[in-house]
Amino acid sequence: MIAQSCIKVAVFSPIRGIFDYLPNDASVALKRGQRVLVPFRNSMRVGLVIEVADNLHESRFSLKNINLILDEQPLVSKKMIRLAEWASGYYHYPLGPAISHLFPPYLRKNKQINSAPILEWRISIAGKNAISGGQRLGKSQIKIFEKLRELGSATTTRLKTELSNIHVNPVIKKLEDKGWIEKQPQKIRKVTPCVNEMNLVKLNKEQLDAVSFIRQKNKDKKPIVLNGVTGSGKTEVYIELIRTCLDASKQVILLAPEITLAEHLFKRLDSVFPGSVGIAHSSYSEKKRLATWQACKQGELNILVGTRSAVWTSMRNLGLIIVDEEHDPSYRQQDGFMYSGRDTAIVRAKFENAQILLGSATPSLETIRNVELKKFSQVFLTKGAVAPKPPLWEIVNLKTVEARDGLTHRLLDNISETLKKKEQALLFLNRRGYSPVVICNSCGYKPTCKNCDWTMVYHKSLDLILCHHCGYTLSMNQLNCCTKKKMRPIGLGTERIQEAIKNYFPEAIVERVDSDIGLSTTEIHGLFKKVSERKIDILIGTQMVAKGLDFSGITLIGILNSDGALYSGEFKAEERFAQLLIQVSGRAARSIKRGRVILQSEHPDHPIIKKIIDHGYQGYVSATLKERKNHNVPPFSLFALIKASSKQEGRVKVFLKLIHRLLSANTLPTDLIISQAVPMTIYKKAGLYRSVIIIKSHSRIEIQNLIAKKISEIELLSKQNKVKWSVELDPEGML
Ligand code: ADP
Ligand code: ZN
Repeated sequence: MIAQSCIKVAVFSPIRGIFDYLPNDASVALKRGQRVLVPFRNSMRVGLVIEVADNLHESRFSLKNINLILDEQPLVSKKMIRLAEWASGYYHYPLGPAISHLFPPYLRKNKQINSAPILEWRISIAGKNAISGGQRLGKSQIKIFEKLRELGSATTTRLKTELSNIHVNPVIKKLEDKGWIEKQPQKIRKVTPCVNEMNLVKLNKEQLDAVSFIRQKNKDKKPIVLNGVTGSGKTEVYIELIRTCLDASKQVILLAPEITLAEHLFKRLDSVFPGSVGIAHSSYSEKKRLATWQACKQGELNILVGTRSAVWTSMRNLGLIIVDEEHDPSYRQQDGFMYSGRDTAIVRAKFENAQILLGSATPSLETIRNVELKKFSQVFLTKGAVAPKPPLWEIVNLKTVEARDGLTHRLLDNISETLKKKEQALLFLNRRGYSPVVICNSCGYKPTCKNCDWTMVYHKSLDLILCHHCGYTLSMNQLNCCTKKKMRPIGLGTERIQEAIKNYFPEAIVERVDSDIGLSTTEIHGLFKKVSERKIDILIGTQMVAKGLDFSGITLIGILNSDGALYSGEFKAEERFAQLLIQVSGRAARSIKRGRVILQSEHPDHPIIKKIIDHGYQGYVSATLKERKNHNVPPFSLFALIKASSKQEGRVKVFLKLIHRLLSANTLPTDLIISQAVPMTIYKKAGLYRSVIIIKSHSRIEIQNLIAKKISEIELLSKQNKVKWSVELDPEGML
């Protein structure tokens, strides 16, 4: 019998397992990392070769053949495959779709790219002799020779762009016929970054100290936290470190939590390292993302800026990963493959022996705990680079001071003062729409979504109510209440604040940024640019305006009633509120004039608000860590969630009861706690009933082993009970 190899393929489809195939052509030796097209459940799917096992004996007749080999050579490195394997194991997500993240969207499909080497022209020996021997040459021929001498070698395309005034093709043909030029495979260009010194900022003492601290720590490769107050100039520290990295011919990945921030950082870096920076996020076309991916992989780009998925981009020689605003919950993918971009970056840096830097003015509590445990190092920036002093806080008690349309006199007076001084104000409210509730004045009817357990939000400009959880809309005349239909808005949304502000300050230029206004990334960027050019007097927005942006003309921040988060019962929601408060106030920390923050609150005596105002974020952190330790919640213990949902309520109940029994079977290690099924806060969402089982332990390994051991049984039960399910490690929110 002829020995035949069996190809193990991770198929890019969210089904657990690695699948066996036979080669399509026995004469071609396949390698780990090549993409192949395989028949899978009645269709053709792309997958990655994980292993080529020799000596297949059994069941070869039931195996199907690979249909097509898509890549002549593996396009991703062994290290990157190992990273995807780690993430698949850690997040209990099927390997195939986890691995597909290593590729740009274009290559997750049945598409090929030309992996044959690109050919370049260079002057041949005969050509050199011809030049030195005084051969008669045409003008265009001389130009091409000169260019090739200057560049060493170049593709036809490059010659065409460089010499746009001549017809390159016929001249090349002639030179080739004479044997004066010849083809060679393109050399990967050495990393030759150029630095535009004009755009560098002279670092202050604190920044310089931080840079040398981080450089020194490069040897031990522990993650480093750059804990710098807002406006302290963390970006400039990044730039200096990037420079060191490029000098050593290494590449850098800089992650940002959001597209607008990634664009902002890209522009800053591109001004310092022109031509060396690429950007990757979901609003670019597939072709553009493919081109950037290839350029990073081949080392033509030295720096990649991107959102969380950029962490999966192959780099030729990675030296440093920076995770900016590391505390931000947007680093976590919310569905499907629920990985954390930050945590994946930490693991990747370890695999590639690169340095990793986590920057934030409000580091997450788990990161601070890692510093306490000496797993991470930390360095501080305590002063604003431009602002003389941190902004001044003032609390307005909404229980005693009247607010009309959410605005108190104290705040309105401060806005007028600010406008008089030709300075800018930012008003922050974390709720879009006009009002979160509408109620009928006659019959008291309050519309709730038919798909979700939630009230619908009124949007005045559209004159409709909208469910923010599933997108279900109703026009006002569709409401099912009494004939009078006298609807009254209750509560505040950004749209309502904008309307009120326009009434109070008719002369002022007022703009609003939230996800409702339907602006593209470029438009939002344009709006932010207008703010920094001081063409806008008052900016109103949700958390989209709270993060990382650099507005030097803003001297007043108004934080409108936002303290609902303090009472949500979620420990992470409280942490996020604290971070948001500091981040928003930080928008007034970039002006040479001292900024003011006016916090309108119904709970001015809440201990968290007091801690933040009296002792800053550090004060909040030390108090909260103690509390979390007492209550034994993360970072002092670890959580995993098993979530289930179905259109039929009963199915979720039965399924989770079975899962509870399954997980609690056998004698459990003493430390593991497995809750009964708990309904999620929004129990019914988009028509699905949702509940969750919470697994808690001090030991990550214990949790991981338990899930890994039971996962195929859970999978089977979910199929039998027709229930959707997912597992979430280190969740951002519990319910
Ligand atoms: P953050 O730490 O909040 O990310 P940025 O890096 O955005 O702060 O810097 C805030 C502002 O301070 C920017 O306008 C930046 O140009 C300026 N800045 C940073 N470092 C210096 C410095 N050493 N000298 C002068 N201006 C600086
Ligand atoms: Zn809904």
